[in-house]
Amino acid sequence: MMSLSSREFLEMPITDFIISSEKVAHVQMGNNAEHALLVLTKTGYSSIPVLDAKYRLHGMLSMRMITEPILGMDHIEYERLTDIKVDEIMDKKVATLNIGDNFQRALDLVINHAFLCVIDDEGTFMGIMTRRVILKQLKKHIYQFNS
Ligand code: AMP
Repeated sequence: MMSLSSREFLEMPITDFIISSEKVAHVQMGNNAEHALLVLTKTGYSSIPVLDAKYRLHGMLSMRMITEPILGMDHIEYERLTDIKVDEIMDKKVATLNIGDNFQRALDLVINHAFLCVIDDEGTFMGIMTRRVILKQLKKHIYQFNS
C-alpha cells in the first residue's frame, strides 16, 4: 500500500475489500430451518445472509435463531425444523454498508458486528466486509508509520 495519511486511509472506498457475493454462503427466503442449520454447521460460520431469488438482502440468520424456537420444556424438538421457514426467524434489522461507502463507515460499524453486508442502491447483495479484513488493513496502515 502507498503511504496514506489517516484521512486518506479513512476515505478509501470499500470496494477492494469486499468478499464478493458468489463466495458468500447464504440461504434463500423460503428455505426451511433444517437446511439453514446444515449450511451453518457445514460452513462453520456464525451467521449468514438471507437473500431472495434476485439476490436482494432480507435478513441475517444465526444458529441461536434456529435453536431457540425448537427448545421444548425438556427436549429439543428437531422434527419441527422442517416446518419453520428462515424468513420467520431471521433478524430483519441488518447493519449494511452501501457499495459507495468509505472505510470510515465500515470501521464505525464493524465495532459491533463481525461482518457487514454490502448492498447497492437497489438493495442487491454485493458481498460482505469482515472485521478480519478491516483489522488487517488498519494494522498495515498503523505499521507504515512505525517501520
Ligand atoms: P472471518 O473473517 O472468516 O472470521 O468471518 C467472520 C464471520 O463473517 C463469519 O463467522 C461469518 O459469519 C461471516 N463470513 C465470513 N466469510 C464468509 C463467507 N464466505 N460466507 C458467509 N459468511 C462469511
